[in-house]
Amino acid sequence: MATPRLEINLRKIKENAHFLAHTLGSVGINVTGVTKAVCGHPDIAKAILEGGVKELADSRISNITRMRLAGIECPISMIRSPLLSEINLIVRHCETSYNTEIAVIEQLGAAARILQTTHNVILMVDMGDLREGITPKDLNSFILKMRDIPGISLMGIGTNFACLSGLPPSIEIMNEFSLLTDLSERETATTFKRISGGNSANLPWAIHACKKGRTNDLRIGEAILLGVEPVSGEKIEGLHTDAFVLIAEVIESKIKPIPTDHPLIAAGYLGKENISSITRSILGLGKQDTDPEGLEFPDGINFSGVTSDHIVVIEKETSSYEVGSEIHIRLNYSALARAMSAPDILKSFSLSQ
Ligand SMILES: *Cc1c(COP(=O)(O)O)cnc(C)c1O
Repeated sequence: MATPRLEINLRKIKENAHFLAHTLGSVGINVTGVTKAVCGHPDIAKAILEGGVKELADSRISNITRMRLAGIECPISMIRSPLLSEINLIVRHCETSYNTEIAVIEQLGAAARILQTTHNVILMVDMGDLREGITPKDLNSFILKMRDIPGISLMGIGTNFACLSGLPPSIEIMNEFSLLTDLSERETATTFKRISGGNSANLPWAIHACKKGRTNDLRIGEAILLGVEPVSGEKIEGLHTDAFVLIAEVIESKIKPIPTDHPLIAAGYLGKENISSITRSILGLGKQDTDPEGLEFPDGINFSGVTSDHIVVIEKETSSYEVGSEIHIRLNYSALARAMSAPDILKSFSLSQ
């Protein structure tokens, strides 16, 4: 079979989606499945829906139109603040978008009126991640400014954690978010239907905290796809962590003893691990295909270096991998996202155990 390729187990993705939809559903939290790391691949989106997730979200309109063209009809939200240049497509394909700018909401409303529809808006509030969001103190005045824009319906509020800062949401911050929800509803005489409390980084809080407060939705990508909690990288009990495996082919394998006076050692390019090892192999895969820092190699193989089209690995013993052999590599979220969007990586689907 062709390499490099991503082997994608749809059954495991479906089971992960089912586990999370069921576990969070039992405490009153809806799961919105986030498809951005798989470029909105329709087969993967369908596996998530078959697992019992009822809504999807993505950060790129190209991914969303791909899912719509494949016949996916469930609600899909745009979770990145809409680009003004894409407003029409967003209103056409998404029932809902997450927003932080009045100018954008005005244009969404204008496009919705032309299309004779209503577009739902969820206001993103910045609870400390310092990526997108209205600051909590500005939320009420923002609501008063936007809620009468024709063509727009204010559906709720949301927040996001651990994306830019890597800081997971604490119980205290989640309580603050609930409090803000209460206060804002009261002071603006509004009822929020959707209170979207975060992403996969919220799962330890959602699964173990006894009080979910006002949060009634989480937007989950990484945990459904990779079975891990993003901040610690740890496996979430009950989820598969091997739904995706990257297969790379060995294109060169040679014993290259490195003398201690090798100029690259003096120049600081080669560490001790290179000197003691004897077999250096090259994989037909590179920076153009994935995020090399997010790869986990099998036991006995260590990463040495990477260029656009080559990954050099070192093996502790004499080579066990001949030219043409396949190496199975695990990926983190950023390596997965890049591999999914790389045209030279074949996507190969299975439903096996
Ligand atoms: C990517 C993203 C998510 C999903 O995050 P995961 O860590 O994949 O669960 C949720 N919300 C927003 C705004 C995002 O950008």
